[in-house]
Amino acid sequence: MITAKARAVDGPDQAFRSAEINRRDLDTTDVLIEIKFAGICHSDIHTAHGEWGPVNYPLVPGHEIAGIVTEVGSGVTKYKVGDRVGVGCMVDSCGECENCIKGEEQYCLKGNIPTYAGVDKYGEPTQGGYSTHIVVTEDFVVRIPDNIELDAAAPLLCAGITTYSPLHHWGAGPGKKVAVVGMGGLGHMAVKIAHAMGAEVTVLSQSLSKKQDGLQFGADHYYATSDPETFEKLAGSLDLIINTVSASIDINAYFSLLKLDGTLVNVGAPPEPLPVNAFSLIGHRRSFAGSMIGGIRETQEMLDFCAEHDIVPSIEVISADQIDEAYKRVLASDVKYRFVIDTSTI
Ligand code: NAP
Ligand code: ZN
Repeated sequence: MITAKARAVDGPDQAFRSAEINRRDLDTTDVLIEIKFAGICHSDIHTAHGEWGPVNYPLVPGHEIAGIVTEVGSGVTKYKVGDRVGVGCMVDSCGECENCIKGEEQYCLKGNIPTYAGVDKYGEPTQGGYSTHIVVTEDFVVRIPDNIELDAAAPLLCAGITTYSPLHHWGAGPGKKVAVVGMGGLGHMAVKIAHAMGAEVTVLSQSLSKKQDGLQFGADHYYATSDPETFEKLAGSLDLIINTVSASIDINAYFSLLKLDGTLVNVGAPPEPLPVNAFSLIGHRRSFAGSMIGGIRETQEMLDFCAEHDIVPSIEVISADQIDEAYKRVLASDVKYRFVIDTSTI
């Protein structure tokens, strides 16, 4: 058994505390990663607060992991000691179902094994990246390109792939008008990636307070959703909307912004329902879709795309003692634009 230092939480209203956790001894296909940085995703907060359902505490969140390989199992072929690598939201899947074979392991028909708050193949609870080390089978590890620093790479493992995947799937590119709702961790990556793909990008944020940043990230237009004129001005104008908002919003107002055959993809995962008025969709043959992270092959493709286009998340590096404060700031939409824990401070 390998012992790692971690930061864990014991209940929905608890503060983070220091902990020691066990990582399994390496299987033949496992790699041991010394974690250098771990991003804070809003999903960590939903989970830690028990908003998505019951959780087995203590919980060590973190699924935006960047680090260095320090040991490999005897059968590992893809990685060697010293490699710069990342781990995202899942650490295993059945590998045999239709979806796994397609490289869409996130949609494994038997359920992928999440990086934390899951159960691994040995029946042990999985614990995430707010820790110093993790053991992962090599097929669920990706390579971080040399020109992306490890601290900036971490958020790509969830915020990056979760926005890249639907933008790619729904054809964001030249001639397409794409809007991003909510400019937090996921939203700011959606802006940067959609811009790099060649789309005309509009940000729909609660206020104009982050407008300069949005334009600098590559947005062509930036509107406040608190202004009712925004919805009149943009009515029927957009091909694709990526909704990254972590809370329930009046989704019907956003459908009205789509053109004929336009699609709104929800990546935000609020615990509350998003009530849909059928008439908002049927009038212009609009679609309402969802999308969850991305497969491992696509995650590597996204990292290479970001390296090629010089895209990096905008981050604020914090120490492990600042996790509780960072959670409060994310909940107040006061994040520019991803908190990343320096795990050497754990
Ligand atoms: P985040 O950094 O907190 O960003 C969410 C943004 O939504 C905020 O910055 C804010 O943007 C806007 N917002 C928040 N509350 C709002 C409200 N009440 N009304 C209107 N707008 C509001 O969160 P994140 O890490 O990007 O995650 C966003 C959501 O995606 C979470 O629900 C998370 O669980 C989910 N998620 C899903 C996947 C997936 O696979 N589908 C993966 C990762 C995360 P403005 O200040 O610009 O308005
Ligand atoms: Zn996430």
